[in-house]
Amino acid sequence: MNLKDVSSHKLFSHIYVEEDALSYEMTSRVISSLPGSCVVPIRHYKDVFNRKHQDIPCQTRGGKKLILAVNRGSLIYKGASVCQDFGNSEFFYATPAMNCVFDCDYCFLKGMYDTANIVLFVNTDDYEREVKKRLEDGPLHLHISYDTDVFPLEKISGIVSFWTSLAQELDGLTIEIRTKSAPSVFTPSPKIIYAFTISPDEITERFEHRTASLDQRLRSVSLAIKSGCRVRLCFDPMIYVKGYKEIYSRMTDKVISSVDLQAVDDMSIGTFRISGDYIRDLRKNAPDSAAVQFPFVKKDNVMRYPDVLEKEMKEYIRSRLKDVFDEEKIYEY
Ligand code: SF4
Repeated sequence: MNLKDVSSHKLFSHIYVEEDALSYEMTSRVISSLPGSCVVPIRHYKDVFNRKHQDIPCQTRGGKKLILAVNRGSLIYKGASVCQDFGNSEFFYATPAMNCVFDCDYCFLKGMYDTANIVLFVNTDDYEREVKKRLEDGPLHLHISYDTDVFPLEKISGIVSFWTSLAQELDGLTIEIRTKSAPSVFTPSPKIIYAFTISPDEITERFEHRTASLDQRLRSVSLAIKSGCRVRLCFDPMIYVKGYKEIYSRMTDKVISSVDLQAVDDMSIGTFRISGDYIRDLRKNAPDSAAVQFPFVKKDNVMRYPDVLEKEMKEYIRSRLKDVFDEEKIYEY
């Protein structure tokens, strides 16, 4: 099932709202966008989000709940070494939300959090203040969809619009918005990068539940390019399945034939990898998924495919792309 309309009343049966979050504009907007949801006041988001003995597969099947909260902790983090930096020596990410409307079997969030429920932070004024403070030290390249996919929350919250407006307004700020959805509204600006994860339909159908299909993503990519936006294509994470060459080959053919690649900023290629700290819980939360039950090897506390396979997978897709795209702008992870 693809997520067509996130403002559907059925998306969140319950919205938990911190008492401190009640007075924020985003809170009012979310609640009025979801009139069918039951609103439950709470003291602190951790009372719900961090509860012990939560069952992620069960919460996902039964419908994730939304929690509106004030982020009183860190608002911006420095990226870890497994993160993609695309040549930026300093790479940072913001956490406007925790957890995701989508449900990818292999998502590291399943290994990081004890819940499938989603926290959306409503105190955008504090994020703005923090960004301005960081900009005093120089330009800032900021990912805003690292612990979530923000696009499915846009209709109810305006979170994407907040960040795109901020990027346009503040000198030195560039934002990157990564997605597996297929947005249709874009803000063309040299300071906003729309990064699309490109996956074959066979992978999306098996492992990337509720995300947009390949055709939908590629239509959205073309629309972003036509609108004059900066676009990045991420063939990452590639997931190993039997017959992966044919599957990724068909996908690459489709990308080449349907996207004006000369208008694409850059690309990334990467195979699935995850911190060794998350693999146990990830496997527990996706017990039937071949994507995460693969016998990975551990290297520097990162679980990944064996070297030979990883190399073969990346080389396979690189060899197809380098014929049609400047190889220097293909980053590998
Ligand atoms: S879209 Fe990204 S953040 Fe959302 S579930 Fe999938 S991998 Fe996780």
